[in-house]
Amino acid sequence: MSELPPIEFAFPELRRWAKGAAPYIHVFESGKPGPTAMVAALTHGNEVSGAVVVDALLDKGLRPRRGTLIFSFNNIEAYLSFDPRTPFKSRMVDEDFNRTWGRLDQPATTVETRRAQVVKPFVERADFLLDLHSMHDDGVPLMLAGPLDKGVAFARRIGAPIDIIRDAGHAAGLRMRDYGAFGDPKSPSNALLIETGQHWRASSVVVAKDVTARFLTETGVIEPGDLPADWKRPSPPQQRVVEVTHAIATKRGNYTPARQFEGQEVIAKAGTVLGHDDGEPVTTPYDNCVLVMPSSNRPLRPGVTVVRLGRLAA
Ligand SMILES: [Zn+2]
Repeated sequence: MSELPPIEFAFPELRRWAKGAAPYIHVFESGKPGPTAMVAALTHGNEVSGAVVVDALLDKGLRPRRGTLIFSFNNIEAYLSFDPRTPFKSRMVDEDFNRTWGRLDQPATTVETRRAQVVKPFVERADFLLDLHSMHDDGVPLMLAGPLDKGVAFARRIGAPIDIIRDAGHAAGLRMRDYGAFGDPKSPSNALLIETGQHWRASSVVVAKDVTARFLTETGVIEPGDLPADWKRPSPPQQRVVEVTHAIATKRGNYTPARQFEGQEVIAKAGTVLGHDDGEPVTTPYDNCVLVMPSSNRPLRPGVTVVRLGRLAA
């Protein structure tokens, strides 16, 4: 039996938030002009650091100074299915909620497409969206800014974490952060996706609080003093932007990394062996190649992405 990662914080009891503008979605209007900012947790049911933060914001009774504030627990059914003996299973029920956004005009046949159709009008209403995720393996936090300049610019205004990843999304299906106006370069609407670190690390909650505080202040819906002073952490001296060029997927689930790599580790030389997939070497295609979210040595399903490769933007 493989060893499971430790769970370092208590999971919030979310059933008290069931009743809202829609189940597990809460909308607060200031009555004053301003943008609509949405913070979403549990897009993946076992990525709990974001749920801790949204639970805390609801518990504090945070209200917008201007504009509108929306909080959502997206894949709540997956979260409620959590079993500590099989903690990775509760990522989803039937399918990945975050790959359904290109086909929500079709009849909903899964838990996730039904839920996404409920969440959709709130996402469409949001001018700014922060989607709180975490990672399967221990890793350095990163912001997924999507493919557009406006996403990178927004991540720079947020100011943390260090790594901003510019990526084209998933071939397997459209993500919420790329949906509708968020994916339109001409629209001022903007969305970010934070990967806070490993799902159940206490440090991931610290990152989720920091980024959420920065996001809500940046949108202007709240003032900096509206949240506990210790949520916002010191800013990194400089952020860096990594442009994803390749996603390496394992063909049959038989991938072995050459060693343990750090998140966003930079590999100096082209041709460096990163690991073997079915015995075939996987190598870096260029010098100064950044390894985005490299997975550690663990059993994998066929087709799973084991690492993304990227270039540091000038
Ligand atoms: Zn996720």
